[in-house]
Amino acid sequence: MKIQTDFVMSINGEAVTTEATQPVFNPATRSVFTQVPDASREHLDQAVDAAQGALKVWSATPAEDRQKALETYADLIESHAEELLSLLTAEQGKPRAGSEWEVFGSVAWLRAVASLRLPEEVVDETEDRRVVTRFTPVGVVGAIVPWNFPILLAIWKIAPAVMSGCTTILKPSPYTPLCDLKLAELAQQAFPPGVVNGLSGGDDLGIWMTTHPRINKIAFTGSTETGRHVMKSASETIKRVTLELGGNDPAIVLPDVDAKALAPQLFWAAFQNNAQFCNATKRLYIHEDVYDDVRDALVEFIEQNVKVGDGAEADTDLGPIQNAMQYGKVQDYFKDCQDNGHVFAVGGEIDESAAGWFVPVTLVDNPPEDSRIVREEPFGPILPLLKWSDESDVIARANDTIYGLGASVWGTDLEAVERIGGQLEAGTVWLNEVHQYSPFQAFGGHKQSGLGCENSLHGLMEYTNWQTITMNRNTG
Ligand code: NAD
Repeated sequence: MKIQTDFVMSINGEAVTTEATQPVFNPATRSVFTQVPDASREHLDQAVDAAQGALKVWSATPAEDRQKALETYADLIESHAEELLSLLTAEQGKPRAGSEWEVFGSVAWLRAVASLRLPEEVVDETEDRRVVTRFTPVGVVGAIVPWNFPILLAIWKIAPAVMSGCTTILKPSPYTPLCDLKLAELAQQAFPPGVVNGLSGGDDLGIWMTTHPRINKIAFTGSTETGRHVMKSASETIKRVTLELGGNDPAIVLPDVDAKALAPQLFWAAFQNNAQFCNATKRLYIHEDVYDDVRDALVEFIEQNVKVGDGAEADTDLGPIQNAMQYGKVQDYFKDCQDNGHVFAVGGEIDESAAGWFVPVTLVDNPPEDSRIVREEPFGPILPLLKWSDESDVIARANDTIYGLGASVWGTDLEAVERIGGQLEAGTVWLNEVHQYSPFQAFGGHKQSGLGCENSLHGLMEYTNWQTITMNRNTG
């Protein structure tokens, strides 16, 4: 399929181009294959005017009609799936299987969110009084998206925003603007003008959004560092914020596992999306009784099964690192491990002359607990394996982090699995499974992994203000 290369922004139902443009790279070749518009402050003001203008009618539109519009949008994305799949691989680097998960997951998400209804809570109902708490749309939502799952994480924001009666301005990462501009373009066929707007630009555009006085909420997914800036900027106008930030997810493996059988699951827990995944297992704590077996089974699985390469090739399992900035950061983690004499069980050397930003799958064999590779979020395919022997000690080590996004526990003694899982400080704790998400399941981070949640009725409510209305029926 020939990949589309001309992209526009969507403001008030109109296609908008700019004289200034920004390059988009294919990470498998390191080459620029197209340019996208570079929004100015004036473009943002126009989008805010459009979103504020559309708000009155859209927020008063019955939920059933909003549901129909979301379902139409889901159908449109589904009918453009092939195009989106190719685009996603070209700009993000992920192989087809990962793109399918994201595109068809987004379609399913839209349909599920469309079925949600905000409650009206009758707090008191007597002859004399009626007290009701209801949930009204918060207003214009700035949706700021990262480069690792540009489609799914945009839909996680657009869907609840429009279903709750808000209007929205979508801002993709400058590294992966194409799919998101396409999503905004398709939205014009499903929603009235101004309900979904899409702008591309640099990080500056994100700053302008978070400081804009007429944007009422920021729904943000990205790094913890940027999340701090967002929260600070939003404080000026007391904007609502939902922050989905970084993670350093631990996985704890108990002594009773079958190492060989478990290795593929542990591998994908850590390396899905080439480990450019907030919820990737980033520290693997293996009980000392099975440490060597699990490590060796992982090495064997990687050597026999995993091909790193261009995501556009059918047999590729893991694509490249998505951008030069991130590639530099990952290189730095490799160098830090080498400089500190950490042992690699597999991988360890990056071939810098490769055509794309490719990095070999790498396991670091029991580095010190205070090493950078254990303490930080590398966001690339390099995973520390760590030994444990005492249950309370491993729980303390797993929790000893500023992050609290996800965690998993693996073992056949279900009582022990549950006991350990119950003590982990994370928004999602998976027991003998991992990365199971649902539109009906609240998702968010504890500690510095985030604020608020996405998905479920709780996530939908984050796009609303609660409002209590009390009435005294005694008028005489
Ligand atoms: P990033 O923080 O660099 O950028 C995210 C978005 O914020 C981009 O659109 C960027 O243009 C914009 N931005 C940058 N500076 C800004 C500012 N000062 N104000 C407003 N917006 C600004 O993150 P990234 O590198 O694109 O993504 C990787 C990070 O995202 C990782 O830390 C990862 O763990 C995290 N992430 C979290 C989740 C989650 O759900 N918790 C999901 C995916 C990724």
